[in-house]
Amino acid sequence: MEARIAELLRAANVQPSAQRVAVAAYVLDTDDHPTADQVWSQVRKNFPMISRATVYNTLNLFVKKRLLRQFVFGDGRTVFDPNVGRHHHFVDERSGRIHDIPWEALSVSKLDALSGFDVRDYHVVVSGRTRNSRRRKA
Ligand SMILES: [Zn+2]
Repeated sequence: MEARIAELLRAANVQPSAQRVAVAAYVLDTDDHPTADQVWSQVRKNFPMISRATVYNTLNLFVKKRLLRQFVFGDGRTVFDPNVGRHHHFVDERSGRIHDIPWEALSVSKLDALSGFDVRDYHVVVSGRTRNSRRRKA
């Protein structure tokens, strides 16, 4: 698994140091949308000496290299998302958990008609309550 991750980092022009591989092993493989501090606490379980600054810098590097996307949600949380393809998000009001919604599941119209704005990107954030039957990952 570590060799696969190192290869993935090299392909993105990231030098695969042990610390970067440790961060990548968690954050590129999670179904969650963790904050930087959540990434730090997960990575420390296997890599206790890693500093908060290293985790933050590594996450920013991964975003720059398009291995991760970064989103700021309405509640002020900045989260990291290993799903770099286009998709929307559903935020559970009770747990705060963020779920992916497939791009094709929603449609937004009239973006071209917004006067005064040159829209380059968008995604929809839906909030509400997760039904019990809903699977964790969309
Ligand atoms: Zn997502």
